[in-house]
Amino acid sequence: MEVLKTVQAVRSFCKEHKNSGKTIGLVPTMGALHEGHISLVKKCKKENNITIVSIFINPEQFNNKNDFRNYPHDIERDLKILKEQNTDCVFVPPEEEIYPAPDYRMFNFGTLDKSMEGAFRPGHFNGVAKVVSRLFQIIEAQRAYFGEKDFQQLAIIKQMVKFINLPVEVRSCPTVRNSDGLAQSSRNALLNPQQRTHASLISKVLFEARDKKDLPVEELKNWVATRINENPFLEVEYFEIADIETLQPVRSWENGNGIIGCIAVKTGNVRLIDNVFFK
Ligand code: AMP
Repeated sequence: MEVLKTVQAVRSFCKEHKNSGKTIGLVPTMGALHEGHISLVKKCKKENNITIVSIFINPEQFNNKNDFRNYPHDIERDLKILKEQNTDCVFVPPEEEIYPAPDYRMFNFGTLDKSMEGAFRPGHFNGVAKVVSRLFQIIEAQRAYFGEKDFQQLAIIKQMVKFINLPVEVRSCPTVRNSDGLAQSSRNALLNPQQRTHASLISKVLFEARDKKDLPVEELKNWVATRINENPFLEVEYFEIADIETLQPVRSWENGNGIIGCIAVKTGNVRLIDNVFFK
């Protein structure tokens, strides 16, 4: 497994493999790897000759300095996990490799970032688009792998790829959960044992909500928020029921496109997100 730190090194790694006719898949991550990330690596390996995993905690996408400072990292552990998965290459750039000069770009995502994470984390998706577009320019992969756990991010990256007209196929991967239902997340490592136990209520309520579509949308939204807020360890930041194409809130189950319910919940200082497909 190659561990590369510079843009130049990863570019020549890609060039060499492309010249010999191999396909390249990219799995962008911020490290602190878990089974969710590994599922992306496995799918990438299945669909491409060469799998590159990037690990970069992107300062541009953190709207909260403490969140950035406290973000878990353990590069040695991550490299061991990726080696066990027979990953071909890990790209671990220092910040100046990704941002050699300030990146002032402002992306316009239309309706996609007006709700949910976009509304509650100002600038977050602009920062995501900066880093992902750069990674796509550095590593000219045929395919790139993203998780449905970050559903709004997935939608935004798909749109960005379309409007920049990048020749990469964005592949989505289902959310991997712990046995109690909690969506796997690097931030779960920050939970204390009590918070970790109570956090499983989030997915439990989301799954129950799936079977309650006899309620009007607004009522179901209130039901979910109330059930979770009843737990003193959890505080709902938002629960939105949205169109899977526009990510705009829907008012009725009759909505023509698919419908997704997306939630953000705080437990102590840790913010967790999850979602469930309604149709
Ligand atoms: P992160 O390191 O949190 O930026 O995540 C890197 C990639 O892994 C993103 O595309 C995430 O959506 C994806 N991911 C994170 N958690 C999960 C999960 N539990 N299941 C599937 N994919 C995930």
